Amino acid sequence: MTKTEEQNSLPTAAGESLADLSRILYTRGWMPGTSGNLSVRLSGNHASTALITASGRDKGELTAKDMVAVHATTGEEVLLPGRLKASAETSIHTAVYRRTDAAAVVHVHSPYSTVMACRAAEAGRTTALLLERFELLKGLGLDDPARTELPVFRNWSDVRLIADEVATYLASHPGAPPGLLIADHGITTWGRDLAQARNRLECIEAICQLLVLGAREGRAETTEELYQ
Ligand SMILES: [Zn+2]
Repeated sequence: MTKTEEQNSLPTAAGESLADLSRILYTRGWMPGTSGNLSVRLSGNHASTALITASGRDKGELTAKDMVAVHATTGEEVLLPGRLKASAETSIHTAVYRRTDAAAVVHVHSPYSTVMACRAAEAGRTTALLLERFELLKGLGLDDPARTELPVFRNWSDVRLIADEVATYLASHPGAPPGLLIADHGITTWGRDLAQARNRLECIEAICQLLVLGAREGRAETTEELYQ
């Protein structure tokens, strides 16, 4: 199949789902301006292809036509050159597709996750944010739903370096949570489809909101103390 034939035969429903979710997340303030990027891996005859939001587009105004077809594990563009450019962060999506069985990846700059990505960051190394005890952890499909460590990667200006670190990490951490933070930058989650990737994003953002609000700070009063 030529590139033109492949492009013309791509299903439009996936692009529409990406545009719909992009609008929702933009409206929440999680994709300010042109930031953030979403992708889905296609199935059947197109399983080697992923659709990803185009670079530099207002995320509140995307349509199915604003998606770029790329090779799901290399990021090479399937589209004819001269049209839209794939997201600048495509390599992070393809790293996740290479190392996991995900079929959808969501990356946004939601405020609470980004705050925690700043707080947990350390210069010169990958760190981790400990998430434990919150009921919301059950939304992540973890082996141990009581705790997990969310990796926090350095925010290299060359995005391929972030992608390399993500791929290396995922290869050596088979029980890793379905998400990651990038220092001073934002959050990425993934799942079997866009709905699951979005649910996981919402759970981690909500946990980070609780952490920012101080849910784990201060001493809890026991019942005895309350009645003394
Ligand atoms: Zn970003």
